Amino acid sequence: MNNNMNNDIDRKEIPWFPTVNGEKCTGCGTCFDFCSHSVYEMKEDKSKVVNPYGCVVGCSTCQGLCPEGAIAFPDIQEVREIIKKLRARQPV
Ligand code: SF4
Ligand code: SF4
Repeated sequence: MNNNMNNDIDRKEIPWFPTVNGEKCTGCGTCFDFCSHSVYEMKEDKSKVVNPYGCVVGCSTCQGLCPEGAIAFPDIQEVREIIKKLRARQPV
């Protein structure tokens, strides 16, 4: 899924962004250092999602980089269905 397919849809209508499990996060900073979309900030030695809609729809790279398995994403199939419905709503 690339980002261009969402051009007609308000990004905030697409529920695709990471969540961090604060219990598991050790504050290593890998996700923060890797993501170039300012999705994360380091606060009080933990990673926090501060810009969820900056996340590229369909990207989940940081999830695989987290050594603690602390990052989760929604089900991509469910999000694809939501996008399909949003696109169907667009005027032709
Ligand atoms: S990569 Fe994982 S453990 Fe490291 S700061 Fe990010 S969420 Fe926390
Ligand atoms: S999935 Fe990609 S765009 Fe989204 S927060 Fe992680 S690295 Fe950044």
